[in-house]
Amino acid sequence: MLFDLRLWKKARVGLRDLFISTVVSVPQFKRILGLRFAGLYTLLAQLYLIADREPDHSIINLSIQMFTTASIVEENVERANFLTSLMAILYTFLTQRQVGHPWDVSAQATLAFDAGSVANRRMYFFFGDLRRLFDNAYIQEKLCNVERYQLQFLDLIRLPQGTCPNVRAIGDHVEYENDVWIGASLMTKDINKLCRQFAASFQWVDEEENLSLKQVIRRVAKATIINSVGGERLRFDQAEIKREVRFITKDPFLFENTPFSEPRHSVVEFVVESEPISFHHALHYTLSWLIDVAKNMSVDELRSLLRFSVQELKESPPCKAIIPDLDPESYLMALFDFPLRVCAWLAQMKAGMWVRNGLSLRHQMGTYRGVSNRDFGHHRDVFLLQTAMNVCDPSRVLASAIDRFGMDDWMRGSYNIRAGYEPSQQIDVAEDFIHLLIVILSDRTSLHPVGRDSKAHELALRRDITHILCFKPLSFSDLNSRLGLIDKSTDLEDFQDILDEMTNYKAPEGLSDSGSFELKPEFLGDVDPFTAHYSKNQRDEAEQAYRTWMAKRSGKPAEDIVLEPKLRPIESGLFKDLSSFTKTPLFAQIIFYSLAHHLNPHLSPDTPATRIEAFLQVVLHLVLAAVLEDQTRDDDVDTDMADQSPSFVLNVIQKRSELGNTIFNVLVRMLENSEIKACHPRIRLIFHRIQQRRPRSYSTVVSSLFSQGTRLPALALDRLGFESPRTPIDGDQEAKERQAREHRKQQALDRQARVMAQFQQQQQNFMNNQDIAEWEEDGSDEVASVITGATEEHKKTWKYPSGNCILCQEETNDTRLFGTFALMSNSRMFRQTDIQDPDFFGELLITPSSLDRAADDIRPFGVAGQNRKRVDRQKSDGSKALSEQQVLGKGFPPSHTSRGPVSVGCGHIMHYSCFELYCAATQRRQHHQIARNHPERLDLKEFVCPLCKALGNTFLPIIWRGKEETYPGILHTDIAFDDWLSSGVGLTVSRFFKREEGRSGANPHQEQFIGHISKAIIPPLASKLTSLFQTPLMSPTSPQGSSRNSLQGRFPMDDSFNPTPTMISPSHPLSTDVLLIDELISIYARIRETIRTNKLSSRFSNNTELPSRQVEDLGNTDTLAKTLGNSIAATEISQRGVQSQPGLTLLDKIPASVMTHLRILSETASSYIAIGGMRNSGSNAPASEFKDTVQNQLLQIFAIHPQIATDEADHKIRLRLPSALSQDPFVFFTECSVACVPAFNLDIHHILRLCYLLQIVKVALYMIALPDAFAFEMRRVTGPSEGKASREALQVFSRFLMQSRRFCNPVLPWPTCEDAAGSAEIPVNQSSGFLIPLYSVFSAYALTFLRKAAILLNVRYGVDFPDTGFGDMDEPELERLTKALNLPSLPAMFASVGDTPENELNTQSQMVAGWIQHWQWREGHPMTMRNLPSGIDRQEVLRQSAYRSLKPEHPAIFELIGLPKQFDTLIYEVTRRRCPTTGNRLEDAALCLFCGDVFCSQASCCHKGGKGGCNQHMQKCGIDTGLFLNIRKCCVLYLHNKNGSFNPAPYLDKYGEPDAGLRRGRQLFLNQKRYDALYRNIWLQQGIPTTIARKLEADINNGGWETM
Ligand SMILES: [Zn+2]
Ligand SMILES: [Zn+2]
Ligand SMILES: [Zn+2]
Ligand SMILES: [Zn+2]
Repeated sequence: MLFDLRLWKKARVGLRDLFISTVVSVPQFKRILGLRFAGLYTLLAQLYLIADREPDHSIINLSIQMFTTASIVEENVERANFLTSLMAILYTFLTQRQVGHPWDVSAQATLAFDAGSVANRRMYFFFGDLRRLFDNAYIQEKLCNVERYQLQFLDLIRLPQGTCPNVRAIGDHVEYENDVWIGASLMTKDINKLCRQFAASFQWVDEEENLSLKQVIRRVAKATIINSVGGERLRFDQAEIKREVRFITKDPFLFENTPFSEPRHSVVEFVVESEPISFHHALHYTLSWLIDVAKNMSVDELRSLLRFSVQELKESPPCKAIIPDLDPESYLMALFDFPLRVCAWLAQMKAGMWVRNGLSLRHQMGTYRGVSNRDFGHHRDVFLLQTAMNVCDPSRVLASAIDRFGMDDWMRGSYNIRAGYEPSQQIDVAEDFIHLLIVILSDRTSLHPVGRDSKAHELALRRDITHILCFKPLSFSDLNSRLGLIDKSTDLEDFQDILDEMTNYKAPEGLSDSGSFELKPEFLGDVDPFTAHYSKNQRDEAEQAYRTWMAKRSGKPAEDIVLEPKLRPIESGLFKDLSSFTKTPLFAQIIFYSLAHHLNPHLSPDTPATRIEAFLQVVLHLVLAAVLEDQTRDDDVDTDMADQSPSFVLNVIQKRSELGNTIFNVLVRMLENSEIKACHPRIRLIFHRIQQRRPRSYSTVVSSLFSQGTRLPALALDRLGFESPRTPIDGDQEAKERQAREHRKQQALDRQARVMAQFQQQQQNFMNNQDIAEWEEDGSDEVASVITGATEEHKKTWKYPSGNCILCQEETNDTRLFGTFALMSNSRMFRQTDIQDPDFFGELLITPSSLDRAADDIRPFGVAGQNRKRVDRQKSDGSKALSEQQVLGKGFPPSHTSRGPVSVGCGHIMHYSCFELYCAATQRRQHHQIARNHPERLDLKEFVCPLCKALGNTFLPIIWRGKEETYPGILHTDIAFDDWLSSGVGLTVSRFFKREEGRSGANPHQEQFIGHISKAIIPPLASKLTSLFQTPLMSPTSPQGSSRNSLQGRFPMDDSFNPTPTMISPSHPLSTDVLLIDELISIYARIRETIRTNKLSSRFSNNTELPSRQVEDLGNTDTLAKTLGNSIAATEISQRGVQSQPGLTLLDKIPASVMTHLRILSETASSYIAIGGMRNSGSNAPASEFKDTVQNQLLQIFAIHPQIATDEADHKIRLRLPSALSQDPFVFFTECSVACVPAFNLDIHHILRLCYLLQIVKVALYMIALPDAFAFEMRRVTGPSEGKASREALQVFSRFLMQSRRFCNPVLPWPTCEDAAGSAEIPVNQSSGFLIPLYSVFSAYALTFLRKAAILLNVRYGVDFPDTGFGDMDEPELERLTKALNLPSLPAMFASVGDTPENELNTQSQMVAGWIQHWQWREGHPMTMRNLPSGIDRQEVLRQSAYRSLKPEHPAIFELIGLPKQFDTLIYEVTRRRCPTTGNRLEDAALCLFCGDVFCSQASCCHKGGKGGCNQHMQKCGIDTGLFLNIRKCCVLYLHNKNGSFNPAPYLDKYGEPDAGLRRGRQLFLNQKRYDALYRNIWLQQGIPTTIARKLEADINNGGWETM
């Protein structure tokens, strides 16, 4: 072992492991090893403390194993004198910085500060060892009985006694604050704990001698006194005591004078503010702990133990101390002076008298009074003072206290400001002085004798919990840290019980809160605002809390409530007569002059009245406590006797000052003083209590006061005390009655209120039934809708948002352009059904038939919820039990997601000019703070909303009139669908093209653009726009050039271009108009830039890499329509499983801000095209893009429509144009609504129906192509889900399936009836087993399509779906929506395709055939249409392409990956995985919450191209956004582009708190609610970028998120 230090690190570790394993396994070897270890311990310690460079690996760390084994410790101490050795090590190291053996100990040594031994942190290891030893029962017994050990211990703790003294700095600040105190206070912290452990070795046993305890008390007391009187000042020349103790004799106090004597008190001479003083008094603490153990003792017994004569002090053990010759009590006074000094010192520091000593002293005070140390420090002081009050003459102790606090003059009635004090400091110190007396009198938690109440620590705990929680509920860790329990809470088994009993646990509700503990109100009654460690503010606050609570309970005004001290009587033992000091005349004098202070206001003119009032309140509280403690009575003693036994009440009435005033008189005069009104309730209560105690004396003094006093009080007699606001105490009969009365009154009031409410309701109903218009007048203006009739056709107008600009706060109006923000980004949240994945396909079969009903009971839905396994578990007794295990679920494969641009916005409104200013400011800020990782990236046109800090990259101007909302509106069509399809639409289209031919060159859609502008856009702007752009249309020759002229350079704002009036052609009325339009165009140009820089998908290539200035045209006209479609789809997804009100559609629960944003987006899509397309009389990019889009859409929808698809267009387009089937039918529908529908003025409702059909056909083709995949899954469904489809519906359905597959070439086979390739339908009976589930799968797809369509029709066409009431609330949502949208039912849709004879296709069937043909031409491998070389399965080729290109959007409820219930399980599962790069253990594992992939986050193995694992994975999975769970940090990481942020994981401990970084080590459980709310919802609502931006905005972040 000795060679340990010479070995290399690995060997040391290995050796130690070997020792540990041996020690644990072989007991007999352990013994030998233990003995050897102990023998070498001193040497090892020397090596460890002085030589070792890697102390963590030292062999000495074995001691933990050694010294926790009782038998080894016993033997070591017995045979190796180990305890002495260990203490010697500490002693010698502390004094010489050398490790020595017991014989090296020098009796004259002092702490070796200069050598640095005190600050050496390795030493704490040995304190730890010593503490472990002290825990051992054998050692405790030795400590009790062996004097040697006791003396050794005293020698050790004597070292830091009085160390690091401070002297108040006057005048200048302390220049150099040395940091010796840090080491010293760390050391004393350990030593103070040892003191308590030392004392805990002793036990008080009733009815026994307790000899060893008495001996040790005497021994410690002697050592302490010798130290206190200055006996060791020569040895400890660096400690606080510089001279021998001296006593001074005070002048007699007036109240103590009797006719026969004038007692004088002699007190220790010491001035706190000018002499050295220290915090460290380990000897005193040890004594106090011992007295604490012995508190069952009688006072006399203890007093005899503590009294020493000079001879006794000088006796053996011989010491070189110099002992002054004093009487025994004076020795004690010297001892007790130290705690008193510290209390006075603290008071002075709190009053700010020691500020010049610098911050370090403040820290020391904070530590001393702080929660973790106060039990070992400040409480000991209080305890010793309480002892002093009992052991010594209380008057003398009081006199000392007066002197120590410098209150001598005050207490004699001359309110001078003491030298060195400021007036405000004087009153602060005075208040603390009174407060100390209150604490001495009322802090009794540790004073009750042992035995009757052995749970002192429980009492203390209860008191602390009450005093901490009375302000507000706290979380578990907050509570713990305030209790100072951080490392102890696990020891206290009853802690949880107490907490349960005293508090109400509130589980976390919100997203970022944690579970909290609220004090049960009944415990508020136990609050003592005057508890020792409250600050003044806390005292007031606690009292206020008590008053409020009491006022509520008793029904009295809060200001009348008086908090009466509740002092538990101490029935026996040392502190039985604790309150006797209040009965001394000197105490009465203190009270008198403290109260009388306010009668001399001229003495302290600067002190505000409220300050004095606060002081008086404290004094009055003490008075009240003292009165309550006075148990003497008038009626049980006759008057003569009563005069002899001391009584505070009698003193109040009888003791007179020089002017003949009594405390009673002063109190009466205070009642007359209205300036201190807040004190009155307390004074009245005091009177009341006095009267209760001594009715006779009370009436005598009152009557004398009113009859023959020199100065009659202005107060009526009956106002003294009779009106006293007694605080109701539970036993108080009168209070109970009053409470009952109040209660009845309250009940009556409640009843009345209910009746009134009912009446009002009726009134309201009545009014509603009347003509509403009449009541509209006084109604609010916010009701923008005017209902014009209660019939089915109703109209109202929806207004676009307006209001104040968030930057300049001005009202927005027509004169300046304003708008709102949007973040347009690519999203990959759109999931597609993978038919070959049975798990996710299975989700379709359990998807509820109504997605607008609450789905909480089936969530987490589908695969995410299937991570619960039932497992057989072997119980400890061998029996088996089923238990549920929740493991890591399966994530959604990223290969089956589609990508699309999505837009979100916060809805805040701003002027565009303000916005530009704001952007410029952002730019400047970025320029200034180069090192910072900014929340926005300017190159992507990003910014954060100035108000809510949401991320945005687009400014959307709001320029439209209101939108009319109607029902049925466009859902009603003039021509029936079939007619329209077979002839109407062809006519419309061909008419359009004919007209176009007639007007050569010009853009065919110009009229439509103008129409849009004049109809939708607000009139002032619209007229300017049309007049500006129309000019060239009117006169084709010259103005064309001029218009070009006037518009040049306005795409976008050109700095060099200065729109001076001369540049504006005279035809334009006002330059401001032009500026307005300039501005509008530059806004739209900004949108185009956003689209391009963010690479939002567009059919029109972004090949214009030219600087934006040269590219004048707007462009990418299709992107906004796509964004609208995807945004609506995203909105619909996030609403799945959200309960909406019966009778209403899902629109009910979509937040208004989202709807507003969609509306603005929808209009922008149109206006962007119209305004862009009007430029240059139509010869511009947007117009030609639009023309192209319109034609494409037309051909996509009407692929082989005889009247539309002409031959020439046909073939070209087939190869160039993506088929309608391979698009998402809803997004396609949205695009049509922006382009071809307005272009040809088509009926949107008919287009809706076609797209609905498109959706159904797409799903059908996908399913038919791969029947094997789903047939398997279908079979798993046990029992057909009845009632979902009628037999007829199934028949139609099967015919539709057969029909659809026959449109393919080659015809796709059908697995269940191979022979039925030619037959027209599947026999329903045979196959209903899978037809029924398949039908419900189709319903699911149809439903999500209709839900999205409903949103679009409302957003874009103002379809205002009516409330259908409760009648149809049980019907499936599909049926309700079909009805609301005026569409044929799903079977009817099937029928429209399949129900005709084979050779005669109706128009709809032709349409379907056309789509399928088009798809086959384009995506379905044209090869399959022709003859292929043999060997290639044509059907297989067809299937593959169907699987590739026809994936429909997944209609289930979306979930993030299912997480295990316990975090431990997650850790276990994740650590089983391997690093994807190296195949080794994962470093810093992260889990993708989308797909469930696991990889290394910030580890070198997976670091590629500057990107960490998460960022790399994001490119494959979420593209722009990522959501990861970092296992080691227990955090969720958000990522968006190159920014990110950490948030607590959705795992909480049993107290409802998260544990980022896993520091607390409690078990963590998944909180599904938080998981959903924080992560799923934010994900579904596209909130990740904004969440990151808000966090980055809030703090200065250095970035580096790419390395995650
Ligand atoms: Zn503004
Ligand atoms: Zn905002
Ligand atoms: Zn992933
Ligand atoms: Zn790795």
